[in-house]
Amino acid sequence: MEAYRKETMHEYSVMRQLVSALLDELEEKGVNKAKEVRIEVGELSFLGNEQLKFAFRTLSKDTILEGAELKVINVESKVRCEECGYEGSVNYSDDPAFHYNVPVISCPECGSNPDIIKGKETKIVGVTAVEEDDET
Ligand SMILES: [Zn+2]
Repeated sequence: MEAYRKETMHEYSVMRQLVSALLDELEEKGVNKAKEVRIEVGELSFLGNEQLKFAFRTLSKDTILEGAELKVINVESKVRCEECGYEGSVNYSDDPAFHYNVPVISCPECGSNPDIIKGKETKIVGVTAVEEDDET
């Protein structure tokens, strides 16, 4: 129960940053209403899709993002190991305790610490704005 609450709060804080950046950007572009928001979520970010959607709904209330649909695109991780040359997905500890810190990531071939090429980032990849009926 405690773990679940923490996990939800993690998604909430990540989503708060995304929503706030997005609102700034949309305001700059003069967008009044958004229909759909697409985000990419890396496997190694350990964020839950449902928790992200829930956080988005909560955070978008009373903003131009209210009612917009959040589409989460999950991105598989990829690493490169300097030690043995392995390139591909990774092993990581799925002990829930690691989810809130830096997860332990190791090379499946030799067990050393590989470089993460992708899979850690969470970013906005697209927004569909609702067209205004002001075309004259
Ligand atoms: Zn290796």
